[in-house]
Amino acid sequence: MSEVNNNATTIILFGATGDLARRKLYPALYSLYKKQNNFAVIGVARRDYDHDVFRQNVLESLQNHSNPGDDVEDFIERFYYYSLDVKETKAYGGLKELADKLDQQYDLQGNRIFYLSLAPDFFAPVTLNLKDAGLTTNTGWKRLVIEKPFGRDLQSATELNDTIHQVFDESEIYRIDHYLGKEMVQNIQVIRFANPIFEGIWNNRYISNIQITSSETLGVGERASYYDHTGALMDMIQNHMLQMVALTAMEPPSRFVTEDIRDEKVKVLRSIRPLTDATVANSVVRGQYTRGTMPNGDVVKGYREEENVNEQSMTDTFVAARLFIDNFRWAGVPFYIRTGKRMTAKSTEIVVQFKDAPKRPYFNNFNDLQPNLLVIHVQPDEGLSLKLNAKKFSTGGGSIPITMNFSNTNQDDGASAYERLIQDCIHGDSTNFTRWDEVALSWQFVDSIAKAWKERNIPLDRYEAGTMGPASSHELLAKDGHHWWPLTKTTEK
Ligand code: NAP
Repeated sequence: MSEVNNNATTIILFGATGDLARRKLYPALYSLYKKQNNFAVIGVARRDYDHDVFRQNVLESLQNHSNPGDDVEDFIERFYYYSLDVKETKAYGGLKELADKLDQQYDLQGNRIFYLSLAPDFFAPVTLNLKDAGLTTNTGWKRLVIEKPFGRDLQSATELNDTIHQVFDESEIYRIDHYLGKEMVQNIQVIRFANPIFEGIWNNRYISNIQITSSETLGVGERASYYDHTGALMDMIQNHMLQMVALTAMEPPSRFVTEDIRDEKVKVLRSIRPLTDATVANSVVRGQYTRGTMPNGDVVKGYREEENVNEQSMTDTFVAARLFIDNFRWAGVPFYIRTGKRMTAKSTEIVVQFKDAPKRPYFNNFNDLQPNLLVIHVQPDEGLSLKLNAKKFSTGGGSIPITMNFSNTNQDDGASAYERLIQDCIHGDSTNFTRWDEVALSWQFVDSIAKAWKERNIPLDRYEAGTMGPASSHELLAKDGHHWWPLTKTTEK
């Protein structure tokens, strides 16, 4: 009898010929294979491939996005292809037969991961079809991995959730927010809770404001037809940005276990001050890029000139917002968040600005005192820096800012966010996936902004490509006496 391996699994990957699978999922699976995970993959999509053509595609993906070694032939032998239009209910029978066969062949213990890397409209029907075809009455465990976006607003997300709950329990649903797989996003809790020097001052007595930026230099590119119906609010704020807010602001969980951590994140999302139609106007900026020059000298098109974008499009390619978290820890501390395309640099970072030391007359000779800043660099740099004041090396007194840096770049074993998340899913650890109440509260917040934009004719502010967003984004902070800190290792225009 074979040894029981409860981590063995069949991975049924819908959307196996898509961009995400090619760029992220195959390299992640290859790394997991090297780490002794036992799985077989059934790639599902419409195009008319056979197993060999599919394996060749997987191999090409690894050659382009990974570093295949001698074991790659063995790896791709575990890939099988099943051509299926996911709307064709009857065609799922053959998929079940193949899954059952591979389960035996590779001794996969009847465990199944259904990974939906498909357009969101397919999430609900595929889930029901899996059930009708008997694919979810497998003998081992079953898990559903769902890509973003999870709905388009609270109502559609609720409907989707109700449908998938007909087939999977909440504990079996793994809603992907790939930011939660990033090394430094996972590090936020360790930096905060494992270091009493930070946790002790992580509150409104010592912190002036928190700034979270996720900027891209790319425009919409090939995703234009999708993006033009989505925008930065839905694409970034609803998930990644609010997740980073929650992790930065949450209370220490009672234990470092999945549901306790998620409970604390939910409390933060529940404490975000709701926005009304009136407050959206002075708390949220929506922007769209126009033609401009990127820092490398490239002149790029404006958003409305991009292919597959409506010439009159009102889609937000930039959002900045000021949030307040109305609880004991954070009362009065603004959280500023911003995200956008075609900005000066690609960067995701969290800046914690501490309150000023008393200046004159106390520090008469120290006119250059700067606030202390703790910066968590999420990407592309991974690390931490702490900005402090020190005495100038001179007889004249005065201070200079100094920075203590920690760079993670050479420490990581190179695991990608997707590798960590798929590994977690195989192990049944859903900590770094979003629970339904987190998703619902995020939509509730985002819906209030979308509604105000729609109903109150709030302007769309234009910004030149290659800049850090519209002037109104800077004014948002200026009216509170703050300013955006320049991104690390880059200069704002
Ligand atoms: P994509 O490149 O458009 O791929 C879509 C996949 O779905 C293809 O494999 C396509 O294959 C398959 N497909 C389409 N219609 C089908 C049908 N009726 N029946 C069966 N298969 C069908 O999309 P993607 O960029 O990979 O994105 C997939 C998911 O990941 C989406 O939810 C997206 O929002 C999310 N996501 C993507 C990225 C990214 O970087 N790409 C990042 C974050 C999240 P056939 O044409 O052969 O059928």
